Amino acid sequence: MTQRVRRIVVVGGGTAGWLAACRVAAAADPSAEAPLSVTLVESPDVATIGVGEGTWPTMRGTLARIGIDEAVFLQAADASFKQGSRFDGWRTGAHDDVYYHPFTAPADLPAADLVRTWTAGRFAEAVCAQPAVCADDLAPRQPAMPPYAGALNYGYHLDAGKFAELLRQTACNRLGVAHVRDHVTAVEAAENGDIAAVVTRESGRIAGDLFLDCTGHAALLIGDHLGVGTVDRTPTLFNDRALAVQVPVAPDSPIASQTNATAHDAGWIWDIGLPSRRGIGCVYASTFLSDDAAADTLRSYLSRTAPGIDPDSLSFRQLRFRSAHRERFWQGNCLAIGLSAGFLEPLEASAIVLIELSIDALLDGFPADRSAMAHHARRFNALFRYRWDRIVDFLKLHYVPSERGAPYWQAHRDPASWPASLHERLELWRTQPPSPADFAYADEVFPAASHQYVLYGMGIAPPPPGPLRADPGAEATLHQMRQRARTLAASLPTNRACLRALTPPAGIAHV
Ligand SMILES: Cc1cc2nc3c(=O)[nH]c(=O)nc-3n(C[C@H](O)[C@H](O)[C@H](O)COP(=O)(O)OP(=O)(O)OC[C@H]3O[C@@H](n4cnc5c(N)ncnc54)[C@H](O)[C@@H]3O)c2cc1C
Repeated sequence: MTQRVRRIVVVGGGTAGWLAACRVAAAADPSAEAPLSVTLVESPDVATIGVGEGTWPTMRGTLARIGIDEAVFLQAADASFKQGSRFDGWRTGAHDDVYYHPFTAPADLPAADLVRTWTAGRFAEAVCAQPAVCADDLAPRQPAMPPYAGALNYGYHLDAGKFAELLRQTACNRLGVAHVRDHVTAVEAAENGDIAAVVTRESGRIAGDLFLDCTGHAALLIGDHLGVGTVDRTPTLFNDRALAVQVPVAPDSPIASQTNATAHDAGWIWDIGLPSRRGIGCVYASTFLSDDAAADTLRSYLSRTAPGIDPDSLSFRQLRFRSAHRERFWQGNCLAIGLSAGFLEPLEASAIVLIELSIDALLDGFPADRSAMAHHARRFNALFRYRWDRIVDFLKLHYVPSERGAPYWQAHRDPASWPASLHERLELWRTQPPSPADFAYADEVFPAASHQYVLYGMGIAPPPPGPLRADPGAEATLHQMRQRARTLAASLPTNRACLRALTPPAGIAHV
């Protein structure tokens, strides 16, 4: 018996819910025999998490597919360009302990040639033009370039609340998404165990064929109703709290091109520059640092990096999380996207990119009929379990090579806290650099290049040259890359100038 998948119900109106609603509605064919309807229900009682300000370059494709103009997005979401991350103090804590993980891949050479030819200086600067551009707070593009195009790869820093509002307007005003502001009080099961409907306090039942659980930490459908358990990642990733603060900036101040991640005794501090403010947060492990000590750590960072601002005049907001993800993400006719699927920690901004990838996977071979859903669920669950495992390994890689002495860092160095898969790869990378062959997919969330940037950025010595000859053209390739870095640094505008040129000085962006 066929049962068309026609009614999509998105429960939750945070970044995950609105991105999912927009992407599905934008992809829907209104002239189809059984056109899709998209309804988003969000509770007026439960606030969105309101953080999540660093994205991956994937966001450019996501916005383009929704049909949002880049300049409109930049203005409406108070957004700036993100070209990667800079890690301060992760290895030793000394003042020159700095490395970049840029979004642009290294010079186009096989991994062994690339690493062998890098003989001096910091790895990222030696193999990629982007760190030089970041160091001068320059934009990754010229304003005259077509929307979403860049001289270098980039994502965004954004205001999460303003971004969700832009998506809401786009979904409701242009893409025909029905918006129900109501609290879901119950979930109604069908005979086959599927979700038949969600029941709201004021608006009655909302029936659907496919339910997207975007209810954040509540995990109302996938967790509460369907009882899908979680995989605890806290033995590997210890952070479980963050203290977030917003710091106003002067209208002409430079805007950083990267997320700055500064290590402290029991975690790290994120620092994200937007045109009108900086979003800063102290991430920490409560078993190693008290809340009061975390607040002191954040105050001391603010005193160092935000001169003229009295830290005591700012209000700190505490967020709690547990490093975990679902055992399965798609169960029956319910797919969990966003925090309901899991969260590890804010490092490397892996959450929004997983939201985007989940929506991509849903739309890539969309289950037009309910009978196909079990197949899609199996495929999705296998792929995303792989992705979460790889992200856990990659995040842990940031901590393992550290030489910092505090108990938190010692605990990260304890091999008992490393996943077996990371252990194996670290063994392999003693004798050869991370290469695409070490990973299963061409579209890894964090490809071999990301692992090279972190491993060698953290001061791990490159492996000795193997028995094979080096590419004789490798030196010339790196030389060209360094020339390109100089040309870009001399020609690209600052982030502030580029954003000004792209976004009109006043007025409200229209969707
Ligand atoms: C400290 C911290 C820093 C982070 N930094 C980053 C970052 O830099 N980059 C990144 O990619 N990610 C980051 N994240 C993750 C990111 O914030 C989330 O992935 C993203 O905001 C998506 O959240 P969400 O939409 O899943 O959940 P939420 O924003 O929590 O939204 C949940 C929605 O569900 C609704 N809801 C709940 N219960 C009900 C109910 N009963 N009935 C109806 N509706 C209901 C709520 O009203 C709300 O609309 C960070 C997270 C934390 C904790």
